[in-house]
Amino acid sequence: MSYELNVAHLYGDLMNTYGDAGNILALKYYAKQMDVDINVTVVSLDEEFHSDDYDMALFGGGQDFEQTIVSKDIQTKKAELIKFIESGGPILAICGGFQLLGHYYIGADGEKMPGIGALDHYTLSQDNNRFIGNIEIKNEETGETYHGFENHQGRTFLGADERPLGRVLSGKGNNGEDGSEGAIYKNVYCSYFHGPVLTRNGNIAKHLLIAALKRKYPDVDFSKQAALPIPATF
Ligand code: GLN
Repeated sequence: MSYELNVAHLYGDLMNTYGDAGNILALKYYAKQMDVDINVTVVSLDEEFHSDDYDMALFGGGQDFEQTIVSKDIQTKKAELIKFIESGGPILAICGGFQLLGHYYIGADGEKMPGIGALDHYTLSQDNNRFIGNIEIKNEETGETYHGFENHQGRTFLGADERPLGRVLSGKGNNGEDGSEGAIYKNVYCSYFHGPVLTRNGNIAKHLLIAALKRKYPDVDFSKQAALPIPATF
């Protein structure tokens, strides 16, 4: 039997810095090996997001200009996105997407852009500086190491019910201060990693796919899919 997952690519036409859309290709690559078909729908400005229509969502990074536009529009999708997240819906949110799932993001010019507060973090600006460069982190629960490239001016501070995606081994991470990078809340994975993150870290793709499959097909044993070997990260 083959399986099918419907994926919403949130603002895929606006939030796609540094090839974050490559995460779709990586997701499809791993899904194929798991006998899973992936249908992707871009859900953008003035379009409705119905939580029941989707099994997963991807939300990429963006420039401040695009983020001001998305910050306003996403308020219309707030209730359904929170419903999706609270019901265990898996989301991958990168950089600008990560910021807008939280309470707010203060842009480089000081403008405060509201997020949807689905996750309990907030993002401050920094004076005339960006965190740019290669980054390596370690997830302390799984022991997995992840690699990526960060480029952000925002400094994100996590809330009490979020765990970091990993501890920074080299690079800056969420804020350059507390050694955290990204966030995990329920089945939502957030990160500042471009690269794109799933092409370089297949384990994260696997976690998202397994979470989506278990949620959609609760009576099926996916241990074979969960044992799929993933290439080492680089
Ligand atoms: N504009 C945001 C920042 O600079 C997000 C950047 C990004 O998504 N790469 O922090």
